[in-house]
Amino acid sequence: MNRKIFTMSFDDGTVQDRRFIELIDKYCLRATFNLNSGFFGNKHFITHEGIKVNHDEVTADEVKTLYCNHEIAVHTVHHPNLIKCSDAEVVAEVSDDFQKLTELSGKEITGMAYPCGGHCYDDRVIRLITENTPIRYARTTDSHHTFALPDDFMKWHPTCHQNDSQLFDSAEKFINAEATEKDLLFYLWGHSFEFDKFGSWGKFEEFCNLISGRRDITYMTCGETYRYLTGKAGKENRTGQ
Ligand SMILES: [Zn+2]
Repeated sequence: MNRKIFTMSFDDGTVQDRRFIELIDKYCLRATFNLNSGFFGNKHFITHEGIKVNHDEVTADEVKTLYCNHEIAVHTVHHPNLIKCSDAEVVAEVSDDFQKLTELSGKEITGMAYPCGGHCYDDRVIRLITENTPIRYARTTDSHHTFALPDDFMKWHPTCHQNDSQLFDSAEKFINAEATEKDLLFYLWGHSFEFDKFGSWGKFEEFCNLISGRRDITYMTCGETYRYLTGKAGKENRTGQ
């Protein structure tokens, strides 16, 4: 039996995650939050794509409760471009974040999102992470606008960004699609501070209303999706032998 899966992955752990989680909990949606343990409690504004926006980070002591219905994943300790880091720095940025987030949340952590957007990972970075840390999946920011499953979980490309002009079209297509031949995955990514940046909280609630509460859609975190898809692939391989 194939599934239609909807999942979300949001980066940077800013204070807007509080409002975002309240919203998605209201619609029983699930998400993964990629956090930088080196920045908890920081207060600052950033200029993102030319727009000034509050980028205060959540505090370490709220991590366990705030994200309790969702998945926590690595986004490195200090958000560097990993391509520019030495081998030792790549491993430390990922494994130290993993350790800190595991301690704070008490949850199992298996995934990450690469910091710094596109072109911020390469074969060396992937090899260092898979050989030296427990991280088994990593999200990119390269939207493909389809419901395809990942070929490589360490290059897990999402469907689209929260502010994508095709967001509602993609949602309608997903709602009308049938998972007859294989599982379908709608994978949304973004940053909760961007709802402030674009003034798009209301629009996003319309999206939540549209995508949620559907009997033929399964709402999962990225880690749950990873475990479901790899578990299923393992079973199919075994029956094929
Ligand atoms: Zn980030």
